Order: sequence, then structure tokens, then C-alpha cells
Amino acid sequence: MTSVTRETFDDVMVPNYSPLSVIPIKGEGCKLWDKEGNEYIDFAGGIAVNALGHCHPALVGALKEQGEKLWHLSNVFTNEPALELAKKLVDNTFADKVFFANSGGEANEAAFKLARKYASENFGPEKHEIISFKQSFHGRTLFTVSVGGQPKYTQGFEPLPGGITHLEYNNIEMLEASVSDKTCAIVLEPVQGEGGIIPASKAFVEKVRELCDKYNAVMIFDEIQTGMGRTGELFAYMLHGIEPDVLTSAKALGGGFPIGAMLAKEKFAAALKVGTHGSTYGGNALGCAVASAAFDIINDPATLEGVKEKHNLFNTKLQMINEQYNVFEEVRGEGLLIGAALKEEYLGRAREFMVAALEQNLMILMAGPNVIRLAPSLLVSEAEIEQGMRAFEKAVAKVVAG
Ligand SMILES: *Cc1c(COP(=O)(O)O)cnc(C)c1O
Repeated sequence: MTSVTRETFDDVMVPNYSPLSVIPIKGEGCKLWDKEGNEYIDFAGGIAVNALGHCHPALVGALKEQGEKLWHLSNVFTNEPALELAKKLVDNTFADKVFFANSGGEANEAAFKLARKYASENFGPEKHEIISFKQSFHGRTLFTVSVGGQPKYTQGFEPLPGGITHLEYNNIEMLEASVSDKTCAIVLEPVQGEGGIIPASKAFVEKVRELCDKYNAVMIFDEIQTGMGRTGELFAYMLHGIEPDVLTSAKALGGGFPIGAMLAKEKFAAALKVGTHGSTYGGNALGCAVASAAFDIINDPATLEGVKEKHNLFNTKLQMINEQYNVFEEVRGEGLLIGAALKEEYLGRAREFMVAALEQNLMILMAGPNVIRLAPSLLVSEAEIEQGMRAFEKAVAKVVAG
């Protein structure tokens, strides 16, 4: 085997990422190890993907079992794991139908295309405008970055798909003033993830639902980051008791195996008739078998209840750190999607905290330059939270001391 180091990245990889210095080679639960045997606590969770930690035995078991039976067929045939997973998703949510993709961006691509198709077939081509929100993130394909509300991700990639408007998140008046008969969809994250861990208000979500009903627009919830137990509910729409028409899932859905899904009510799903959309790998047997095993553990009331309890413990610890070091403007989020927004004097320095934490053998995330983000395994233990937060406190102390 050739030996590779962090420098190899700079030699052979396209420079679109800037990975940290450590190269983990093994993981178990909330722990990771590098080649030198250094141990790390993982509160980053592969960016809200490893919802059951690393190498959960049930997922490893499902992968091995399916791996010896059947990996891939394409959608010329269907397969049992895909149908079983789809049934679980339908039985436990608002949705009647499922489309499988391989990533979040592709699930959103399907949702946006569905909205356009539904509107043009039922109301004509004029009804094609998509309303989205500033700071939102919906993926990296050209359509999904265009719907996303972060201009830095579209700059230089023009010309972009048209008919997309970006409004202020949580601004009800602006939304009311902008929706029209031309609106085909309103798309939002119930908690903006990449945009800084910003929850939508209940009143805002209610208004989106009301306006979508009034104008025959498809209400799309992007739950790629908030879904699959992350907020302490199976999906975050359940926090407000308001059902979308279409929902996208990925990240935690596969617990580390790449898979995405679009869930839809029958009426809207019907717009994607035979041949209108597709994916070679979507609904791949291997991915669906792993996701199906993950679903059963995540959708267990004990797991979901645990998420809410652990949220409180993280919150308490973060507040205690803040009392001592006065670095956070606000600690926010739902369940185990937690954001600590930096105070003015630390704005733009979230990466410094992330690097300082790594030096204390703790992995954390940022959500933009001003917010520290934690998205650990839903199964993180109290002892691991205590240990990780002790490391985090040391990291904060170092950054504060300069
Ligand atoms: C991560 C994310 C995506 C994109 O998912 P990929 O799997 O990277 O394509 C889309 N929407 C939200 C809310 C996300 O957090």
C-alpha cells in the first residue's frame, strides 16, 4: 500500500476543500482514531450524517448481509430493500410516495423538478416561480445552488436557472407580499443548517402552509439536515405539527452510506410520470438495506427521547462555558443540531474554535464563519458529552487567551 499524508491532498485533489490536518482511519460510536492512535471525540458526525455514530453494529450487519446478496440492479428492476425502506418512510410520515436518490442535492433536484412539472401540467408554464430564502442551503448542483440563498455558491457559475426568488427567512410580511399565482413552490429548511442553525418560527411555517394552499404552490421542506431524528422528532415538521407536500431527506438517512430520498403526497408525486425523472443508482439495494437498519434504530422512541435529553445537557454545558468566557451571543437549535453563535468580537473566527477543539482531540463543525455547530451521533452518551465539553472548554479558553 502506498503511504499517503495530508500533503497528498494538496498534490492530487481538486482544491475545493481545505480539510483539517488529522486523517482519521477508524471510528466506533462517537470516537475516532488517527494513524498514530490518537483518540478523538466526534461531535461533527460527518456533518450530521453519522446519526448512529461510526460503524454501528446494526448498520455494519446490514451492509455485510446485503453485500453478500445483491448490490445493484438499476431501476429497470425494483428491489426488496428499496421497497421496504419506502414503506417505512410512508408508514411513518405524511408522505404517500418516495423517490430515491444518492445525495441531498439530488433529492432536492427531484423536488424542484417535481414542483415545476406539477405546476406546468396543472396550471400552465407561467406558474414556475420558486420562492426560497436567504442563507438557505439546498445542495451544489446548478439548480440547487440557484435555489439556495448563498450567493457565494453561485458566483462564476452563471447563467443560472431562472424563476427563483430569495426572501428573508422568518419574514411573514415579505412572504405574503411576494407569493402569487406564478409561484409553483416555497422551499425551506425547518432549521437553516449551513446558514447558521436558525429555526423557522411556528408562525412562519404556518404562513407558508397557508399560502401554499391558497396559491396551489408545493410546500417543500428540505429536511436533509434536520430529518431522521436530528431534532428529537423523526422529521422536524413534526415539531410544529404542520405537514409539507414534499420533503427531502439524506445525510442521516443512510447513517453514512450515501442515499437521498424525496417524499411526496400522492397528488404531487403523480407529476413524475414514467420516464420524466430518474437515477441509475437511486434506490440501490445496498444503500437502502443500510438506511432501513438505521431507520429502525432512529425511529425508536427511546432514541428520539434521548435526543431531547442530550440537547438539554449540551445546552447547559455551553451556557456554563459562556458564563465563564463570554464568547457566545446565543446558543440555539433543536435536538442535536446545536449552534453557538459567536459574539461580535469573535465574528468570522468559528474556524479558529474548530481548529482549537481539534487540538484538544475534539471534532466540531462550523455553520458559516460566525457559528459553531455541533451535530453528534444521536446515541452520544452523557459521559462522552461531559468529556467532549471539557475539551471544548479548554479550546475556548485558548482562543480567548489568544
Ligand atoms: C447537506 C445539505 C444538502 C446537500 O446534501 P448533499 O448530500 O451534500 O448533496 C441540502 N440541503 C440541506 C439542508 C443540507 O444540509
